[in-house]
Amino acid sequence: MSFQNPLFIPGPTNIPEAIRKACDMPTIDHRSPAFARLFKPAVEGVRRVLRMAGGEVIILQSTGTGGWEAAISNTLSPGDTVLAARFGMFSHRWIDLCQRHGLNVQIIETPWGEGAPLAAIEAALRADEAGRIKAVLATHNETATGVKSDIAGIRRAMDAAGHGALLFVDGVSSIGSMPFEMAGWGVDIAVAGSQKGFMLPAGLAILGVSDKALAAMEGATLPRTFFDFRDMLKSYAAGGYPYTPAVGLISGLAKAVEMLEDEGLEAVYARHARLAEGVRRAVAAWGMKPCAVSPELYSDTVTAVVVPAGCNGTDLVKLAADKYGVAFGVGLGEVAGKVFRIGHLGMLTDVMVLAGLATAEMCMADLGWPVKLGSGVAAAQEFYRGSVVPMAMAAE
Ligand SMILES: *Cc1c(COP(=O)(O)O)cnc(C)c1O
Repeated sequence: MSFQNPLFIPGPTNIPEAIRKACDMPTIDHRSPAFARLFKPAVEGVRRVLRMAGGEVIILQSTGTGGWEAAISNTLSPGDTVLAARFGMFSHRWIDLCQRHGLNVQIIETPWGEGAPLAAIEAALRADEAGRIKAVLATHNETATGVKSDIAGIRRAMDAAGHGALLFVDGVSSIGSMPFEMAGWGVDIAVAGSQKGFMLPAGLAILGVSDKALAAMEGATLPRTFFDFRDMLKSYAAGGYPYTPAVGLISGLAKAVEMLEDEGLEAVYARHARLAEGVRRAVAAWGMKPCAVSPELYSDTVTAVVVPAGCNGTDLVKLAADKYGVAFGVGLGEVAGKVFRIGHLGMLTDVMVLAGLATAEMCMADLGWPVKLGSGVAAAQEFYRGSVVPMAMAAE
């Protein structure tokens, strides 16, 4: 008997059987044409998922954090200034990484639960007449608070200020699950990870790099070796890697893109939007609210649920794991204990989400929280049954 339940953490996500099979392969020579045949569809698929025009896809053996590091170390020099808003644990950690690399981070402190502050970003860029700011860093989906930021809006702010900085976007918990337009939004580096929307195990950082970012690479003097895009691109040209690639994960990535495109990217985004709306209906029925302060900020991949006064979100997460074998996300940093997080991205259906909501309710009842069993589930059921795309149609 297996006691495997679906996961409701916002990454790593549930892995489809087909992707597990694609990752499970015998050793091949990574300098052989067989590897090139496997690698090419993965790279081309990522290019389509990111909606790139020009530039290069870079796939690193790392996690998303390594993707952040590669983005800055390949394009910037010690002492360079970057502009970033801090409004959650992931935007905070990217800022910390930049500081540890000797960059000067101009930080716009923003309350947790809000998104990237467009007016403040524009004002900071307008004030930078000397052009000291080399890059703007943006966390598309702040996984700690369940907040989606308006990347197109940041591009408009940059253009309105007439500023030529690069735009780097952390899309680790959005890419492959929520609409992302690398070319359309003028993103210079987009960072994704294998273990979220791509439904793979952790182990790959997946980057889209624009031609403008590639040009910045030549003058950049931050040290880099393992992550050096120049070595990568040289080997890429020959269909290979400067070092031993994670062949199984790359095979899985090609499969993941195939699955996303078979469903259709628009359908994938619509499914995530529906799943998320059902979760939010449940949260409202519990008499609770998302941490995101307004509806346009609501993430379609993760909901951070603010727990009632006197309750501790971490207690729920611990009980769900210990008693029911189900994983939810704890609150991080400033919102530790104040929220618990429901991840709703990757391989998930209405029925799976209902199981997660039912488990959360059992935990609430066990903990004596003021919630009626079935209330959130019923609200989500009403929404799902009214908006479902019948399986028989989805399969066609
Ligand atoms: C998961 C995540 C990361 C990267 O985390 P890794 O564990 O290094 O893959 C970065 N940013 C966001 C927004 C994330 O959700």
